Amino acid sequence: LCKIYGYSKEELIGVNYREHTNRENYRKAFKAFNQIFRSGTTGKLINYEVFRKDGVQRQVEISATLIVDESGEAVGFRGTTRDVTERSQMEEQLRRSEERYRTIIENIEDAYFEVDLGGRFTFVNDALCRSIGYSREELIGMDNRQYSEKTVRDLYKLFNKVYRTGEPVKAYSFELTLKDGHTGFCEISVTLIRNKQGEAVGFRGIARDITERKKHEEQIRYLATHDVLTGLPNRVMFREILQQNIEFAYRYGQQFALLFMDLDGFKTINDTYGHDIGDHVLMTCAVRLRKELRASDFIARLGGDEFVILVKNVTSIKNLTTLLAKIFSTAGMPIGVGGKEHSLTASIGISIYPQDGQDKQSLMKAADLAMYSAKEKGSNNYQFFSMGIKSHFRERTIVEEHLPSALERDEFFLEYQPKLDLKTGTITGVEALLRWRNPELGLVTPMRLIPVAESSGLIVPIGRWVLKTACMKNVAWQRQGLPRITMAVNLSHRQLLDDRLIEDIKDVLLESGMDPELLELEITENLLLSYFPRIINVLNQLKGLGVRLALDDYGSGYSSLAQIRHLPVDTLKIDRSIIGNIPANRIDMAIIEAILGIGKALNMTTVAEGVETLEQLEFLKDPFCDEVQGFYFSRPVAPEVAAELINSRRFQLTK
Ligand code: C2E
Ligand code: MG
Ligand code: MG
Repeated sequence: LCKIYGYSKEELIGVNYREHTNRENYRKAFKAFNQIFRSGTTGKLINYEVFRKDGVQRQVEISATLIVDESGEAVGFRGTTRDVTERSQMEEQLRRSEERYRTIIENIEDAYFEVDLGGRFTFVNDALCRSIGYSREELIGMDNRQYSEKTVRDLYKLFNKVYRTGEPVKAYSFELTLKDGHTGFCEISVTLIRNKQGEAVGFRGIARDITERKKHEEQIRYLATHDVLTGLPNRVMFREILQQNIEFAYRYGQQFALLFMDLDGFKTINDTYGHDIGDHVLMTCAVRLRKELRASDFIARLGGDEFVILVKNVTSIKNLTTLLAKIFSTAGMPIGVGGKEHSLTASIGISIYPQDGQDKQSLMKAADLAMYSAKEKGSNNYQFFSMGIKSHFRERTIVEEHLPSALERDEFFLEYQPKLDLKTGTITGVEALLRWRNPELGLVTPMRLIPVAESSGLIVPIGRWVLKTACMKNVAWQRQGLPRITMAVNLSHRQLLDDRLIEDIKDVLLESGMDPELLELEITENLLLSYFPRIINVLNQLKGLGVRLALDDYGSGYSSLAQIRHLPVDTLKIDRSIIGNIPANRIDMAIIEAILGIGKALNMTTVAEGVETLEQLEFLKDPFCDEVQGFYFSRPVAPEVAAELINSRRFQLTK
């Protein structure tokens, strides 16, 4: 007791215990001793605080009994005192931390549980009761009998893993189904509970209902993988499906086909009737195609009017052609557009796994190339991918690669082809034609290079070079004393839409000193169709410079007669494909007569291109064509040869 109180025996003896505590404790003690005194039994005084000699407060527990003398008179108390300060501090800490955890567990939205090794609940919080609709009493001791077999299996696997590894599992999500058929998604974290000896005795964990979140995720995924307009899977999903099919077909040694489909003339419908009608057409088409295909065939919309169909396990080409026929007839079913019935046609390119490609990229590329090639063949066509197609497009790629540096490397040159006056046989002019000699590709024809130059935009600087070179040549010839002749230069689509065209031509005329009257710019007929109003404006500006304009390849496109009436054009050049049909094709011959008639009526100079035979020449004399150009007189030739031809002037035009 001396140790607890910090006083010596002498100091303690004879002093009232009241001296070592405060009022409140003293009262507590008084009550307790009073009780012992009255009952005569042993009593306990707990939570009793005393002050040590050094002023430090200690907590003690006192157990006391009454001391009675022989006569039975109470004379005092005896007892033991124990210092419990440390113990009670620890108890307080424990109580607080327990309270803290209880508050957390009862207030979180997540379900908290503890189960024994048999899976029976030993503790659950309110949230868990709420979420599965059982009371705490019902749950304690209950195992997982309310879950479906699958869920039980899933849970077993999960808990077993935690048990085996001793490692907690965090945020494991799975589909939870109840016996009554309810399903939801759940995310669960589980830890092992061990006893003091470190043996596993159960599990504790937190579970969260993520059904809503899953629904949202699924919605977002749907939007990301489907086309809003048609409801078909989109490109993103298609790529996933394609990958899966490649893996599957690889494993089981199967073939499958990829059909790239593009609606012909869809753009025209869109442009003519507006986007709402365009959308209607796409939607109708999508729905019909989906209905026509087997459930195992996959169809997606890649964008615009492009669809892709994946046909699984293709065993014969014959099956595929049956399907193709079905697709064409489905696409061809009439669709009401602006009160009229329209029949669509489609172009389809096909690639086959594994022969045309073993990965996504090459299969799609192959089907895409095949589709372009089908389009080139004309509408309502399909085309299987082949090496021929590949080399065609590969060559195009090589051209694309080398073209950009061709100007700097001075690889271009011009040839000139004479045009003759049909009456006199005199050369009235030449047409400048572009040639490209590349060390690797050899001589590249305009047919191969112009489309590439157009799509890359390189045609603009190349065209400028052609114009300048041709004009300089013409001026040089005249300085040499050759007769005045016109110089025809071809302008492409892209050049006509180039903002700087007018300035460029002005510059060239100025630099070369060429008489604008001698420059004739040729534009192709089919160019007029697409951008009519804008082109007319450019043509009028060109006319303002004093140059001549020719409509090239006339009769090969579809421009109406009404259209050429409004064009500021001086010359009509009849397309060589029609001239080539003399004398075999009577209809073409009638067309030529008609064109010559129109030309005369509109006061235009008429030129026949591609004249190769005397027979053609004779035909062109009546009805009368003004000028002729073609291999019969001269191929396109180098400038020196052209100069000689111009100098000799006259061709013999009779038999
Ligand atoms: P085009 O303007 O219609 O030029 C006439 C084409 O017909 C030339 O082909 C010429 O060689 C060919 N030709 C002439 N007479 C005959 C004949 O009797 N029989 C046959 N079978 N062909 C004949 P080329 O030089 O291959 O040019 C093809 C096209 O490329 C040109 O057609 C023109 O549209 C375009 N082109 C040529 N040079 C240029 C250029 O500098 N700029 C632009 N934008 N296009 C050009
Ligand atoms: Mg031409
Ligand atoms: Mg032509």
